[in-house]
This record gives sequence, C-alpha cells and structure tokens, in this order.
Amino acid sequence: MIIGLDTRLREVLGKKTVEALGEGLGLETVGDLLGHYPFRYAQRGERTDLGALQIGEDVTVTAQVRAAVKRSFVPKGRPARGGKPSDLLEVIVADEGGRSLTLTFFNQSWRAKELVAGRWGLFAGKVAQFRGRLQLNSPQYQLLAEDAADPASAIEEFAGTLIPVYPATAEIPTWNIAKAIHTVLDMVPQPPDPLPRSLRERLRLQHYGTALRQIHRPESHEALGAAKKRLKWQEALVMQAVLVRRKAEAAGEAATAYARGGALPEAFDARLPFTLTAGQRQVGEEIANELAGAHPMHRLLQGDVGSGKTLVALRAMLQVVAHGGQAALLAPTEVLAAQHHRSIVDMLGDLARGGELDAPPEATRVALLTGSATAAQRRTVLDEVKTNTAGIIIGTHALLYDGVDFADLGFVVVDEQHRFGVEQRDALRAKAQRPPHTLVMTATPIPRTVAMTVYGDLETSRLTELPAGRIPIATHVVPYTDQRWMQRAWSRVREEVAAGRQAYVVCPRVGGEETEDAGDRRPPLAVTDVIEQLQNGALQGLRLALLHGRLDADEKDRVMRGYAAGEIDVLVATTVIEVGVNVPNATAMVVLDAERFGISQLHQLRGRVGRGTHPGLCLLVSEVPEGTSSRERLDAVASTTDGFALAELDLEQRREGDVLGAAQSGVKSHVKLLSLLKDADIIEAARAEATALIEADPGLKGEPAFAALVDDLAADRGDFLEKG
Ligand code: ADP
Ligand code: MG
Repeated sequence: MIIGLDTRLREVLGKKTVEALGEGLGLETVGDLLGHYPFRYAQRGERTDLGALQIGEDVTVTAQVRAAVKRSFVPKGRPARGGKPSDLLEVIVADEGGRSLTLTFFNQSWRAKELVAGRWGLFAGKVAQFRGRLQLNSPQYQLLAEDAADPASAIEEFAGTLIPVYPATAEIPTWNIAKAIHTVLDMVPQPPDPLPRSLRERLRLQHYGTALRQIHRPESHEALGAAKKRLKWQEALVMQAVLVRRKAEAAGEAATAYARGGALPEAFDARLPFTLTAGQRQVGEEIANELAGAHPMHRLLQGDVGSGKTLVALRAMLQVVAHGGQAALLAPTEVLAAQHHRSIVDMLGDLARGGELDAPPEATRVALLTGSATAAQRRTVLDEVKTNTAGIIIGTHALLYDGVDFADLGFVVVDEQHRFGVEQRDALRAKAQRPPHTLVMTATPIPRTVAMTVYGDLETSRLTELPAGRIPIATHVVPYTDQRWMQRAWSRVREEVAAGRQAYVVCPRVGGEETEDAGDRRPPLAVTDVIEQLQNGALQGLRLALLHGRLDADEKDRVMRGYAAGEIDVLVATTVIEVGVNVPNATAMVVLDAERFGISQLHQLRGRVGRGTHPGLCLLVSEVPEGTSSRERLDAVASTTDGFALAELDLEQRREGDVLGAAQSGVKSHVKLLSLLKDADIIEAARAEATALIEADPGLKGEPAFAALVDDLAADRGDFLEKG
C-alpha cells in the first residue's frame, strides 16, 4: 500500500489512537494529522515559570514533584455514594525557581506511587484557581527518566532540541499525538508539492514534504523558521487566490450604470445643512464614478464611529434612484434599521414624499421592512418595493426573505458588515436582475491585513476624519469598589441630565436568565437589576428606561424614539446600542463590568456619546485590580480614541484567544500558522503573487494541485470570511 496524505489513519495507526484523534481533534487522514501543527515548542532544559500561568490557559509545564498528600472527603452537595468518601490526591510540583502548582486527582490515589517527590515530568492541563492557589485538575502527565537530576538531561529522552507541544484533548495528550505523527512521518514518502514550482524556486521556499517534517521534528530554530515560512506562504497564497479570483470574476460581470448627477441628488446636496468633510467628498467621488461604470462596484467603506458613513451611502443611493434603480440598506438590528429609516427620512425631508401631491417631482419613497412589521404594513411595503414606488428600502435580514421582490435592485448597502456573513450579502444581491453595486460599511476599524483577507474581494475606502466641531470623548476607568468614585460617576450623569443632556448606562447582561456558574466570580451585572437600583438610588428622580434584545420590536422602537426625542434621560441598555445608534444629545456613558466587553466593543459603545457638539464622557467601571491584563485593556481604551490602534490590539488578543481556544479544541481551519497581524509582509506579497498567477492563468489550469486547494477553500469560503 502506498501511504499518502489521503490515507485514512485507521489504515496506519492503532484503533485507540485513531479514535482519540478522530473524536477529539477531528483528524481522519494522514494529511489531517500532519496538518495538526504544534502550537509551541518546549525547549530542552526550558525553564517553566509557574508564576506566569494564566487562569483558564491550557498549559504543558516542566516541573518537579515536591510532595503528594492523600485526603478523604464526602463530596459536597450530594450524599456520599453508599456512604463512601471520595479520595483526593494533591500533588505539589515546583519549577526550578521554586514556584509551586497543585495537581489534583480524584479517586486516583494509586498515582501517588509514581508521583513521588523528586521526579520531574511534563504536566498538561487547564489552569484553575482554588482558594487563591493555582492548580491543574486531573492533569495528564509524562514522567521523565527517573535518574535525571536536572530537567535538561531528563528531557533528553525526547529526540530533538525542540519538543513539539500539540493542541491536545483529554483523550489524547500532546506526547501521544507526537508519537502518532512520528509514526506516520516515517511511513509517508515525500508528498507532491502543491505550490507552483517557479514561485517556490523564486521565493526559495522549502519543499512541502521537508516543511512538514521540520515543523513536527525541527532540527534547529532555523529549520523550523524556514518550515513555518513555507507553510504560511501556502496558507496565504491559497487564501489570496480565492479572493483575487472572486474579485476578478465580479469585475468581469456587467452591471447597470447609473450616471452621475440627476435632479434628486442635486436637490439633496443643495439642502444639506452642513459641508461634507474632505473624506466624504473624496469617497463620494470614488463611489459616484463606480456607480456610473459598466461593472459592479464592490467596495468596503471603513470609518470610525461618527465619521458620517450613512450620509455617504445615502448620496450614493440617490444617484441610483435618480436613474430608476432601487437601493437596499441592510442593517444588523431592528433598532438600527428603524434609526436609519428615521434619519434618512429626516434628511430627505419632502424628497422622501414621492407620490404625494405637494412633493417635488424628483422625490422618492423610503420603505422600512423588519421582522416585526404587521401583515398589513408588510403588504404595503412589499407592494412599494415591487412597483418601484420606494426607491430606498431599509431593513434587517427580513429583506432577504422570499417574497421580497424588487422592481429593479441596483445597489446594495450593508451596514456594519461584521454582523453579516458573506452568504447574506450574496442572498440580497441575488434579488437583483443584474449584479448590483455593493457598498459594505463598517465602523470597526480594520487593520490593513485583515481588510486584505477577510474583505479581500472588496476595494476599500476610509473616512479618516470626523465632521468638524466634534470634541473628543474623555474616557476614564472607575474602580467599582471605591464608593467615592462611584458617587462621583453617578453625579456626573446627573449633571449632564441637569444640563439638558442624556446618558447611557451599559451592562453586560439582560437579567432573569440562568447564569453560568463561574466559580468564585459573581455573574455580570444585569440591566433589569441595575435599573431598579439606580431608580431607587443614585439616579432617583430621573427618567430611566430599559433597552435590551429581549424586548419586542415595538417596545424597542418606542424606547428608542422616546430617547431620541429627549423624553428619556438615561437609557439602561445592553450592547443592543453598540452599533450605529445615533442620539447626538447623549453625552455621558457609564459602562458597568466594563472588563466583560472587548476592546473594539467598548470603542463602539463609547462612540454613542459625543456625537453632537457637546463634549462626551465615558466611564468604564470595573472591579478588576490594576496590573491585570483585563485592566490594561481598559486603560488602553481610556488612553486613546484611535480606533485603528485599538483594533490592532484587539486582534492581537483575539489571536491569542484563537490559539488557546479554537486551536486547542482542534477546530480545523485553513489558516493555522498565518497571523493576520504579524505576517503582514507574507500576506501582502502573497496577494501580489496570487494576482499575477490568476491574471496569467485565470482557471489555474497549469497548476492542478494548487487549483484543488483553492477550490477547496472557496467551497468553505464562509468559514474564514465570516471570522471578522
Ligand atoms: P457613522 O459613520 O457612525 O455611521 P453617521 O453617519 O451616523 O456616522 O453620522 C454621525 C452624525 O454626524 C449624524 O448625525 C450625521 O448627520 C452627522 N454628520 C454627517 N456628516 C456630517 C458633516 N459633514 N458635518 C456635520 N455633521 C455630519
Ligand atoms: Mg452608522
């Protein structure tokens, strides 16, 4: 039998191993297993610093057994089985610096026989905390040669200098994965290299087979570096080829051209109450030209919160409507769809009263379609959409349903894209007779390399400045445990309200739901509890209202309208207000349990205040102590309003999360080694190479092995495109 990457593992490995690899890690073939890369390499003689462990982290540490203690106890909360107590074995291990860690084993006291003081081992598990001490519960372990006095020589029994540490599961620890990989590596002959030979030679990339061997059994740091580079290049090149091909296909399509100008856009511009920012003007030009072109526009518009993206989109929509087309605006939430509808109708004035007697002849209508429309409303809207009475149609995913028939959909605008998958974008586009122009708007600043990958099939524009007259938001971290600070925070809210302004109080949770048992940690604060406390306490006498995702749509809409109209002083809300909510009179925001939110999320949240001409204030309330990484994140948000800088920081942290989360649980992903942040150079170079490859050979016919990888990823495209 010839063993290749397609060979099933069950043909080459033992049954138990095959089951553990399949169930725990989803690895079925030789190729899957060889593609299960180590996530780090332990160094021979490496010093493990037990002081640096993070709670919740999956770790493999090198340490020495110091003591083992057996205890008996009756498990709490349930009657002892037949009155029998359980036994608990506690093993204390320490690193070279003498820092210790407790290992616990339930009903496995026999392990005390091998875990004797003085022995060194590798211990793997998730770091937990109990009574202020760090511990690993039921860790997996591998003891090192008994006579080894120091860990450097102890680890000698592992062949290389660099010991691969694999994402592992409870069924199969890293050293057994390593064993399986070694077995398989020795059996497979050199697999064919899928990358185009000329490219490989020009870029001096290792052969695929060499890279696979080196990543699992590195001979040296250099060899490992070269292997990683080779494998990252493959990931980047395949991904970019998918995107470049998609872009090339789209560019070849024919679209309806909507000429620039027209009575409607001109009438609108003439009545704009302010001057456009330079960015709005420039991006507006780009878009106007593309809409007038023969191929569909596919453009991403990035602009920090408050930069005025909606206006840019509206002006583009009017260009399309002026020439008989329809424009659809897809919003991620009902609150946002309703708000867009309100503000667009307001901005248009009588230009939105098409068909009415006293309206100007160039006027159109703006329809709103959300899931909560009544049957009658829905019928009216569907009719307006079908007959082209409505030129602009705003809605949530309800727009995507069957039965929503457009007379002539020419332009699709997707707001806050990160909430939608590409499938949804495509579902709406499919309602057009010819490929429509598409504009995707996002307020989450996207680092360049992410734009090139997640949105790599789109052209991008950025709005980098805020409209004139905006005063930056002041952000402070407030310790929850300090009464004086908290009082000061609430009196700031009262001051804003006394001055005629409004405020938000944001909590992580709605309330009333079951909360996960988080051990020592209390559940996050809930809006339903907090509103009651504030009403009867710090904010007594003010007009408070509740907004969260579980309210029905009418109620949500009523509350938002009331807030926008100034009938509510303080909105106590969950993150439903995170994206796009625009009430310029709101000037203060208090975020409770702020450490529960992500960096970009906090930045988005605070973008809700300071949207008018009054200075905005954002207070991030948290009880996490100074010096912790959670606190550092809050300090970072407080220290800058540069959304791009924060987005990069966020991405960095998420990558770490991926390594520990997704990679650990063995989720298969096409992008295993490539970091969107750190490998910008590879991604950029791969983009250029992919562009050249596809220009020269659009069907990749000359490179069938590479084409197969590209097709494979394209078929799963949603996977990585939705990641953002
Ligand atoms: P975002 O980019 O966050 O979606 P919006 O489009 O909601 O921003 O705009 C924020 C606010 O700024 C709105 O009230 C809008 O009317 C206003 N605005 C937009 N452009 C300008 C401008 N050039 N000058 C002054 N205000 C503007
Ligand atoms: Mg917006």
